[in-house]
Amino acid sequence: MPINSRLPPIKVPKTGLVQYLFEGRKFNTPQNKILSIDVATKKTLTLHQIKRDVLRFAAGLQDDCDFKKDDVILIYAPNQYDYAIPLLGAIAAGGAASPANPNYNTGELVYQLEMTKAKILVAHSENIKTALEAAKVVGLPANRIFVFGDDTINGVLPYSALLGDRLAIPVDYTEKEAAESVAILCFSSGTSGKSKGVMTTHTNITSNMEQYYASEREEINPSIDRALGILPFFHIFGLTVVLFSCFSLGIPLFVMPRFDLIAFCETVQNENITMACLVPPIILLLAKHQIIDQYDLSTLRLIISGAAPLSAELSQAATARLKTTVVKQGYGLTETSPVSILERTSKAIAGSTGKIVSNMVAKIVDEDGKEVGPTERGELWLKGPNVMKGYLNNPEATADCIDSEGYFHTGDVVEMDSEGNVYIVDRIKELIKYKGFQVPPAELEAYLLTSPIVMDCAVIGVYDDEQATEIPRAYVVLKEGTAPSVETENIIMKHVADKVVAYKQLRSIVFIAEIPKSASGKILRRVLRDLANEEKKTF
Ligand code: AMP
Repeated sequence: MPINSRLPPIKVPKTGLVQYLFEGRKFNTPQNKILSIDVATKKTLTLHQIKRDVLRFAAGLQDDCDFKKDDVILIYAPNQYDYAIPLLGAIAAGGAASPANPNYNTGELVYQLEMTKAKILVAHSENIKTALEAAKVVGLPANRIFVFGDDTINGVLPYSALLGDRLAIPVDYTEKEAAESVAILCFSSGTSGKSKGVMTTHTNITSNMEQYYASEREEINPSIDRALGILPFFHIFGLTVVLFSCFSLGIPLFVMPRFDLIAFCETVQNENITMACLVPPIILLLAKHQIIDQYDLSTLRLIISGAAPLSAELSQAATARLKTTVVKQGYGLTETSPVSILERTSKAIAGSTGKIVSNMVAKIVDEDGKEVGPTERGELWLKGPNVMKGYLNNPEATADCIDSEGYFHTGDVVEMDSEGNVYIVDRIKELIKYKGFQVPPAELEAYLLTSPIVMDCAVIGVYDDEQATEIPRAYVVLKEGTAPSVETENIIMKHVADKVVAYKQLRSIVFIAEIPKSASGKILRRVLRDLANEEKKTF
């Protein structure tokens, strides 16, 4: 029997995302309330200014850049206090926005530009060189590239050059159109293979925000809450749960471009931050780092951890250390926009990700796809208004993970207790998560195989307790004539390092005589994971 959510049902919103954010607000936020603050420069934007500039940017795109319905803008920048202006501006103009990791190298950015066929690229002064190189490769003209900030850099105009007097009327969507039109294109490798564009519709996002509030409602108080915008906005967790939610709820968001422990503590203390979405490696620092005691973090009432597993021990250690803060975890995926499992703060249990969110139905199945008992271990399948439309231009990959009944197969193994609390206990898909970031093994394996000394290889994630994250490890079969040595290891490490962004780097290499494979040639990752666990025990 499919398992229904135990949380109160939500009404699925019927409008487009921009209308929902600015007109269907949950609370009656005053137009002059400051909602976005740059922690470093103290620059701010009020609700009125955000809405006005989104519509000015939409008009600029339509009038000066021939931007039409279903066109795509690619945002390639670290968190900015005005990140949402070009992103939502493009959506208001009827297009979709694809946020990219600001540290991507040229090849990785080219891939995302090519996949999305982005018509506009908005970069940042610190990565404009890479942006220009990538734009050249894909043939994106210079007048379609803009930069954050006030200055023209390397001949590239700031995006504010498009802000004129005209305010666009945001493209209106019927209920059906909102459910079918793509608003956001984040990237995820899903259960296997390379990164794919995830088609997240207007309704996927607006529903997920409602589902998130249904699990948070009793605690949210916009008149006192102040949130930290430290999770990257290019990831769906930072984009939906942090950035969009703060606009719609009227909660001031203190934006930081990257994590730094001292800056984090100072900001929480000086700005009276009450809530923050974080990832487990940051929670580890909060639980263990001595510097924490030098700050008064007592305003912080809630930390929501997501994107990777948070053990009961670590969440209890952080809760004990921070005293006034509840640390709870949620579970989600890019493909589910993202929040799928979350508990109300007063009922959160350490180690559990909580309950299946409102309007979602789940199945827990065995290896043959047969449902198991509700308290037995199995793969989690999910259905609901927040499940993506599919992978961009990849119907095969979509059909592989969304079945004919509409269930999305998560590739994660769960156990549920009799109260409906879900525990994520394993992952059967290929994906590795390094500090919450996706590392698709297939991508690293493809690069490894281009090395002249590598015969065969497989990449898996190995959990490192000290960093509270998985780390990518390669098992490598060397070509005949090459001996395993530290030097060989360094050559292979460098070969991959030159091609991928820092968080995808291999952290260790193990030489092996043969990669374990099934009769059909599929890498048996489970065998390698068992091998790694055995090694761990012998140390
Ligand atoms: P992403 O699409 O980058 O959000 O990655 C989704 C994947 O992250 C899930 O399929 C899980 O494998 C993992 N994940 C997310 N949240 C959790 C959690 N709370 N505990 C364990 N794994 C998680």
